[in-house]
Amino acid sequence: MASADLQVWSDVLAYMRAHHADMTRQWFEEIEPLGIVSGVMRLRAATDVHQRYLERECAAVISSALQTVSGRLLSVRFLGPDDRPDVSDAPPTTASNNGTLQSPPVVAEGLVINPDYAFEHFVVGQENRLAYAAATAVASEPGVRYNPLFIHGGVGLGKSHLLQAICLSLLEKNPATKILYLSCEAFASEYVGAVKAGKMNDFQRRFREVDVLVIDDIHFLAKRDRSQEEFFHTFNALYMAGRQVVLSSDAAPQDIPDLEARLVSRFQSGLVVSINAPLYETRVEIVKQKAVMLGFAMPNDVAEFIASSISANVRELQGAIYKVQMFQSANGCPISLSLARDALSDAVIEIKPEVTILRIIDTVVDHYGVKLIDLQSKRRQKSIAHPRQVCMYLVRRHTRHSLEEIGGYFGGRDHTTVMHAVRTVETKRTNDPDLDRVLEALERRCGAENL
Ligand code: ADP
Ligand code: MG
Repeated sequence: MASADLQVWSDVLAYMRAHHADMTRQWFEEIEPLGIVSGVMRLRAATDVHQRYLERECAAVISSALQTVSGRLLSVRFLGPDDRPDVSDAPPTTASNNGTLQSPPVVAEGLVINPDYAFEHFVVGQENRLAYAAATAVASEPGVRYNPLFIHGGVGLGKSHLLQAICLSLLEKNPATKILYLSCEAFASEYVGAVKAGKMNDFQRRFREVDVLVIDDIHFLAKRDRSQEEFFHTFNALYMAGRQVVLSSDAAPQDIPDLEARLVSRFQSGLVVSINAPLYETRVEIVKQKAVMLGFAMPNDVAEFIASSISANVRELQGAIYKVQMFQSANGCPISLSLARDALSDAVIEIKPEVTILRIIDTVVDHYGVKLIDLQSKRRQKSIAHPRQVCMYLVRRHTRHSLEEIGGYFGGRDHTTVMHAVRTVETKRTNDPDLDRVLEALERRCGAENL
């Protein structure tokens, strides 16, 4: 290959690290540039999973990086390890048609599997040990021990990561395994599509022929009666045939609102495990692990600083790491504690007192002009019920209190009432910008911003 082409690729890599650190992975070093032919840069990924990630996530950015560093109108095409390197067999992937996929057979159908989400990149702590153990057991003996496997926990705590790790591990052991990995919404909309098109037979065949069915965020089944019904039958068919089913959810089966009792009991019939928010030690390990994956060295004190500053969930932690990394490449100096402090200055209130239930209540009571005793009473008029729901929502979101504890605090209400309050406020918040602003202000006042 022409050395000029090689230079272009190494410039693109440097450009990606500097400008798109969040999507650049250490394994990009393993990508083999095959050269530029007819305006198309062909890049060979080391694995099919890498190829798929590049196509889905990076095609547009890499082709624009190519144009920036070379000053030429170039597009990019990603090949898998076994693809022949001729250019003519498929349209190149460019910024405008990056949806083109040549689905390699080893990749699970449905959602794209992120190669970052392998078991070896999952940091195990006491908060997720059981879920991790169950996931690895399922990956080594699908359909045998824990069926279904049901993993639940809050947002950004690694549910999707574990689900994908199961898929990756199964595919690595046996690329012919038929895995269907999809979101609950995708399931529901495929179902609706099949009904509309009168293609229910195809739909059923597709779902019932798989070895492993993995559905992410199954709590979205709630309220979709027809798709619940269909899911129930799909589940039974697979279960009877000894196929593995893996599900994730934001709540335990019995706590998912509007989930039919028969589905609750199906879900409970296998193994139900929860993931909790990572403790400090786990967070430190996660920060170090992510830095290794992104290909840069993270000094211990910086990892500890980030872990102590950000505690909400792993996704936020990751955001902080990207920020530090971008700051570093923009400033061109090594990563140090003071650099991290600068990078995160707007995200971190360092010596901030912990957000407590009392601080939240003080803030809400003050804002709405109600009394704590009213919030704890049985009174249901809107002027009290609304601030009460807001309180429950904020406490749930920004403290570690359980649903039961929160219910107890607000006048001995049970956990489903709290869950209902949280969901109600969440929905209203998404649909009502005014409420969103109010909540943001309240969060700021009780020190819970950026969580
Ligand atoms: P969820 O599906 O529970 O909302 P994700 O699985 O999407 O959360 O995780 C959010 C991010 O945090 C992902 O990038 C994931 O890799 C990372 N993550 C979560 N838990 C861990 C962990 N224990 N070790 C390493 N990374 C983790
Ligand atoms: Mg998820």
